[in-house]
Amino acid sequence: MKSSKQFSLRKNNSFNVKSICPIVYFPQTLSDLESLPDLSLSPFYILGEGSNTLFVDTQAPIIIKPDFKGIDITETTDNYFVRVGAGENWHEVVCLCINNGVYGLENLALIPGSVGASPVQNIGAYGVELSDFCVEVTWFDFSSKTLTILSNQDCCFSYRDSIFKNDLLNKGVITEVVLKLPKKWQANLSYSGLNELPLDTSARDVMNKVISLRQAKLPDPDKLPNAGSFFKNPIVSVDKLTSLKNIYPSIPFYSQDDGTVKLAAGWLIEQAGLKGYCKNHVGVHQHQALVLVNHESDYGKDILALAQFVQKQTYKKFEILLSPEVRMVTSHGERKFTDLPIVDWGK
Ligand SMILES: Cc1cc2nc3c(=O)[nH]c(=O)nc-3n(C[C@H](O)[C@H](O)[C@H](O)COP(=O)(O)OP(=O)(O)OC[C@H]3O[C@@H](n4cnc5c(N)ncnc54)[C@H](O)[C@@H]3O)c2cc1C
Repeated sequence: MKSSKQFSLRKNNSFNVKSICPIVYFPQTLSDLESLPDLSLSPFYILGEGSNTLFVDTQAPIIIKPDFKGIDITETTDNYFVRVGAGENWHEVVCLCINNGVYGLENLALIPGSVGASPVQNIGAYGVELSDFCVEVTWFDFSSKTLTILSNQDCCFSYRDSIFKNDLLNKGVITEVVLKLPKKWQANLSYSGLNELPLDTSARDVMNKVISLRQAKLPDPDKLPNAGSFFKNPIVSVDKLTSLKNIYPSIPFYSQDDGTVKLAAGWLIEQAGLKGYCKNHVGVHQHQALVLVNHESDYGKDILALAQFVQKQTYKKFEILLSPEVRMVTSHGERKFTDLPIVDWGK
């Protein structure tokens, strides 16, 4: 199996911070996975393309970077089935599908990252989520050294969440994902920005629109390093919303099927006065308060310090604790944001 010692992860994290791991493994086959060393005693992290990962320390743990390749499209009378290796790039798969007349993924165009990571946080954008199409995930279990097929239900998908972030965390790797796309296609234009497209629009037009909206709204990580939305949109009770509405009548909210309410984390951060905030070469994006950006710091700790500050300030104002979407990786492995010591980043 391909591996590399003292590997720099700088080009493998969209925050572009410095971190070096003692060794990285690039498994491409089942036998590669079977031959991985016993990791039960050493901290490790499974890395896709690092677009949802913050390397907090300049030393990273052992890295496993699944490199399973291949895209295979089959069809039945009513559906296409797209089987994709975990190491493929998500956006390239979306483009390949559209180019081959397989429609449905267009709203998820331009989401950075690998296919293997897509079920982990159930990627979503413009009114669509991976879970709308994902019918199977192939999973390699470290302890039994076997492959298992997980159904959509087995994956326990919900908003930016799945079994892979919970019960299966660090227990194995995703090697393949299977998507089911109905041949009878209908554009999903429910999301604001897309509803200006004509009703007889094509999937390619929807994809192009999504791409242009995303490029206008979000900073390109190659030009201004970032990991997209840093925090999840918080879910609160109707009572909490009512009390907030008394003070902030224009607060945006989205009612959920289960009776709870989703708030816009970016709006909360903006109201806390932090849009465009900048310190120690890192900051809150000047147009998108939900995006933390790295202007020119080498250190993940600076981003962490900023995130802790944003969480504290928004809590002070709204008594809502924002929770990061981005995964925190220290030299000792992945850690919960709340378990990380508060970074002192000076006055
Ligand atoms: C500019 C920008 C915009 C973004 N917009 C969106 C958006 O609209 N919607 C959205 O949902 N996300 C968005 N994101 C977040 C990011 O694109 C997704 O989280 C993506 O799925 C991360 O893929 P990755 O390969 O880079 O994952 P990584 O950051 O490498 O890993 C993310 C998680 O997946 C795990 N993982 C990775 N590969 C595997 C595997 N094969 N098996 C098991 N676990 C694995 C990792 O351990 C980690 O927990 C955005 C990010 C950026 C930078």
